[in-house]
Amino acid sequence: MIPFLDLRQINAPYSQAIKSAIKRVSESGWYVLGKEVETFENEFAAYCQTTHCVGVANGLEALTLILNAWAFPAKSEVIVASNAYIASVLSITHAGLTPVFVEPDPHTYLLDPLRIEAAITDNTRAILVVHLYGRCCDMEAINKLARRYNLNVLEDAAQAHGATYAGSQLNMPHRKAGNLGDAAGWSFYPTKNLGALGDAGAITTNDGALAERLRALRNYGSGHKYINDYLGFNSRLDEIQAAVLSAKLPALPETNDRRKVLAKRYLTGIRNPDVVLPPADQLELDAWHLFVIQHPRRDELRTYLLEQGIGTDIHYPIPPHHQQAYAAFAHLSLPIAEQLHRNSLSLPLNPALTDHEADFIIETINLMSKRTKV
Ligand SMILES: *Cc1c(COP(=O)(O)O)cnc(C)c1O
Repeated sequence: MIPFLDLRQINAPYSQAIKSAIKRVSESGWYVLGKEVETFENEFAAYCQTTHCVGVANGLEALTLILNAWAFPAKSEVIVASNAYIASVLSITHAGLTPVFVEPDPHTYLLDPLRIEAAITDNTRAILVVHLYGRCCDMEAINKLARRYNLNVLEDAAQAHGATYAGSQLNMPHRKAGNLGDAAGWSFYPTKNLGALGDAGAITTNDGALAERLRALRNYGSGHKYINDYLGFNSRLDEIQAAVLSAKLPALPETNDRRKVLAKRYLTGIRNPDVVLPPADQLELDAWHLFVIQHPRRDELRTYLLEQGIGTDIHYPIPPHHQQAYAAFAHLSLPIAEQLHRNSLSLPLNPALTDHEADFIIETINLMSKRTKV
């Protein structure tokens, strides 16, 4: 059996480093907002090439806190892709703002800059870009629009640890996800490219005043003990999780490289006329958090692969506007998102997957096209 993802396998190589990190924190007598969080914040800011990183409790709250810190008027609108993960949309709602769904580019699955402008109104204040599956959005076009309409740009980088963006201009230095807008929300949920042993998150930004406000917001709105400047939250990153993340961060470039090698293997090996492969034009830049294919009979393919011992997953089966929680948006017709949610299937892609397993998956998918021909 090839599992879609086995977190025990993922964390096995760090077993010793994780144990010593946990022991260090356990024996320190200091468990919340201490040296470990500060160290990880500095390391992760350096990794993303931003001037600030603020550790928080999880990815959803990272995004929500940023939107809260920007203090837009109530009912302001935030543009988001219609095929976003539910957490991206929830952050907008929880900040008291209104999501405005814009259809993605059907080939990249990402927010389509050409469609954004039509959705901008007098109430629009921000664009929330989701670097879905580990591929950066078209930030040059999006930032240009944002400047023209005076909008903030929030990156949901929860699937993009280590993803890189190359603008169209020659000689422009490549920039990392998390350093492509005004602020970025990160998740270190255990399944992400950089995963903790529980919930964890962070915010990266080059805006010093925003970072300072966020440091207060995550801690009851308090910059100094028992002095509360804002109506804050409790959204702190634990010392233990920060120590685990510091233990795993040095290997992120290597594990991302392994994901690239496997993605390349899939991209060149899968030859099934019914399968639409993910875009390969930024193979070297993408973080390959997920390898998502499209198939017109997705559920049939999924069952067939399971029969052959191959686990898959669906990211995501139901678009946000069709969720009960967003019943107020159910009337919207968003055909691109709806088709993506119907046809998407995520193949196993993680640093623990072997070449041999990847080849078996490729072979099995290629055989299906022959088997099901009538
Ligand atoms: C995982 C994820 C989140 C939420 O992160 P949590 O830490 O689980 O709250 C948000 N957006 C995207 C795109 C994600 O993949």
